[in-house]
Amino acid sequence: MSARILDGKMLAQRLQQELKNEVELLRVRFGKTPRFMNITIGQEPSAGSYGKSQKRAADFIGIDYQFAYLSSQVTQKELLDYVHGLNEDPDIHGIMLHKPVPEGIDFQQAVNRIVPHKDIEGMNIANLGLLMLGRTNIIPCTSAAAMALLLSCGIDLAGKEAVIVGRSEIVGKPMMLLLLEKNATVTVCHRGTSKAGRLIDQVGRAEVLVVAMGKPGFIKGAWVREGSVVIDVGINAVNGKIVGDVEFDEAARRAAFITPVPGGVGPLTAVMLMKNGIETFKTQMQMV
Ligand code: NAD
Repeated sequence: MSARILDGKMLAQRLQQELKNEVELLRVRFGKTPRFMNITIGQEPSAGSYGKSQKRAADFIGIDYQFAYLSSQVTQKELLDYVHGLNEDPDIHGIMLHKPVPEGIDFQQAVNRIVPHKDIEGMNIANLGLLMLGRTNIIPCTSAAAMALLLSCGIDLAGKEAVIVGRSEIVGKPMMLLLLEKNATVTVCHRGTSKAGRLIDQVGRAEVLVVAMGKPGFIKGAWVREGSVVIDVGINAVNGKIVGDVEFDEAARRAAFITPVPGGVGPLTAVMLMKNGIETFKTQMQMV
C-alpha cells in the first residue's frame, strides 16, 4: 500500500480563507478588528519561525497581531502585572505567552493569569478543564491541527484503536481528550512504555497513530500497522533538514494516510491559534 499524503499546507490555506471571510463579517458586525498579543521573553531564536508563521497567518486573515518583547531579566511579578494589563485592555482580544521562557519564570502560573476568554493557546487551567469536560472551542493549537488532518481523511474514529506516543501537556494529553470525544479507544504511550519494551506492540495495534516525541525517525516504518492513519507531529532539525518522529518512507508504504514533515501538522498550527483567537474575540464582543 502507498499512503495518501495529508497535505497540511493545503488544508491551512483553505481554513485561512474561511477565517478571513469570518473576520470580515465580524468586522462589519462589531466594527472592530481582532487584536492579539504574543508575549516573548528574551530573544529566543525559536521565537522566529513559529512567530513568523503566526504573523503571516494573522496578516492573511485580517487579524492585528503584535509582539511584546520583554527583557530576559523580567521578574515573575513584572510578567504577571504585564499580563494583567493586557487582560484589562479592551482593545486586546487574545494573549499568548511564547515558550520557552527563561529559567525562573513559571510559565503555567503566567498563563493562568491570562483571563480564559483571552487565552488563545487554550493552555490556561480553566480552558484545559473545559477541554476535559468536552465543553470548549479553545483547543490547544497543535492537537487541533493534528485532529483537523485526521478528520480530513474522512474516517469514522468511533471504536478505532488510537495510539498516541508522547504525553506532553501541549500535544499528547489534549490529543487524548480530543480522540476520546470522537469515541476512539485511546492508548497513550511514553518513555515508560519504551522502557518496558512495549512501544513496538502498541504502535503495531494502532489504526490511528499520533506521534509527538521530538525524536527523529524513532518510530520505524516497519512497526506501523497496514492501512493505518499516521499523524507525525514531530519537528526535528537533522543536518539542516526538518524531519518527523516517524521513519516516513517505510511508514508511507504501509499506512493508508500519512502526514509529511515538513508540510503536515506544522503549517496548520498557527492557523489554529488564529481560529482560537477568533473564538475569544467573539466571546468578548458578546460580553459587551
Ligand atoms: P515533550 O518533550 O514535551 O514530550 C515528548 C513526549 O515524548 C514525552 O511525553 C515523552 O514521554 C515521550 N517520549 C520521549 N522519548 C520517548 C521514547 N523513547 N519512547 C516513548 N515516548 C517517548 O515534547 P512536545 O512539546 O510534545 O513535542 C514533541 C514533538 O512535537 C517535538 O518534535 C516538537 O518539535 C513537535 N511539536 C510540533 C508542533 C507543531 O506545530 N507541529 C508543536 C509542538 C511540538
